Amino acid sequence: MKCPVDRRVMMVVEHRHIELDFCTKCSGVWLDSDELELLIDVLVSEGAKVLAIEVDKSVRKALRKCPICGEKMEKAWIGHDPKILIDRCPREHGLWFDAGEIQKVLCEMVPPGSPQYQNVVSFLGDAFQATHMQGMANRPQDTV
Ligand SMILES: [Zn+2]
Ligand SMILES: [Zn+2]
Repeated sequence: MKCPVDRRVMMVVEHRHIELDFCTKCSGVWLDSDELELLIDVLVSEGAKVLAIEVDKSVRKALRKCPICGEKMEKAWIGHDPKILIDRCPREHGLWFDAGEIQKVLCEMVPPGSPQYQNVVSFLGDAFQATHMQGMANRPQDTV
């Protein structure tokens, strides 16, 4: 799958049964539609309230294309405080988070210093660090 921002082939990161696609160039993250829920279940708590996602049709800048279907993605707000503007496929293939946004969304859901907070931080650290190391060991394949 290619990054919707820079078209680089993203790396699939699998960690604790969650699969996400990570772009080593821009550090953006693609989550398939169910994966955000799964991520919240695993890291925050099982059955935790799923974050509301609010599509904002008034935002027209920088519409990106869904890496799965190529449809222009919608801008949508996620979270509460702060709200973060992400991209969402109108056909519900998934969500795109720019660098650092997924961290902000998840860290906002848990009290700082709590065991869940440590989960979030270590999950993201492990997942992305592993990717970077892998990226250095294997040459990037950009012909798929
Ligand atoms: Zn990218
Ligand atoms: Zn799509």
